[in-house]
Amino acid sequence: MLELRQVETWYGNIQALKGISISVHPGEIITLIGANGAGKSTTLMSISGLVPPRRGEVLFEGKPIHDRTPDAIVALGICQVPEGRHIFPSLTVAENLDMGAFLRRDRLGIRNDLDYVFDLFPILAERRHQPGGTLSGGEQQMLAISRALMARPKLLLLDEPSLGLAPLVVRLIFQIIRKINSENETTIFLVEQNAHMALQVAHRGYVLENGEILMEGTAETLLHNEAVRQAYLGL
Ligand code: ATP
Repeated sequence: MLELRQVETWYGNIQALKGISISVHPGEIITLIGANGAGKSTTLMSISGLVPPRRGEVLFEGKPIHDRTPDAIVALGICQVPEGRHIFPSLTVAENLDMGAFLRRDRLGIRNDLDYVFDLFPILAERRHQPGGTLSGGEQQMLAISRALMARPKLLLLDEPSLGLAPLVVRLIFQIIRKINSENETTIFLVEQNAHMALQVAHRGYVLENGEILMEGTAETLLHNEAVRQAYLGL
């Protein structure tokens, strides 16, 4: 479904990605784990067009997208939930969700998807008339994910959804990620520093270090790999 081939991404003369190759199959949850500064966010931004690669290719459903604009990439069905959530704080929860559906014209479908996200996160239904900025960190993360779902993406890119959240909320968010994947066949590309949780929900994973892929394998294999356990799981 998505393929990165030898992607190199630079910030001026700093090379953040040094020729990475990743493939994501339809219906999968794949995770990219790595330390701070490894290049995880850059990988997502190289896919979504926010920081286009200098070399290499990004293919989505077989077609090159690395030369397309971010909005054209969204229109293809790739939606990113950025790190730090970035909801619209002065808009209500309901208005934030409407923004997610702005490219759609199918009113019935939008209505159904709104019911679906309220079912996933009942707290958002309770708070639908409240400004987004008044929600807790966890609720804002729920809103950011829900807003992305309102675009009905084929591929959902999640950047550190657990960042700064309490353990209970983290567990809930990861349960929901699993649910979204299994109920909607939404393919998920999950970037996480919380390698333990990420490998619990993902099918496969890649380990990124200093802009290079060090290892890849099933989540199960990586969870039991000695180097991964020492470097990323603190075991
Ligand atoms: P984090 O978890 O901290 O977001 P990350 O794995 O997502 O880390 P990136 O944010 O992708 O890492 O950063 C990869 C490298 O690129 C780092 O060395 C970082 O310093 C550098 N970098 C990121 N953004 C910029 C920028 N706007 N200008 C220059 N260098 C940058």
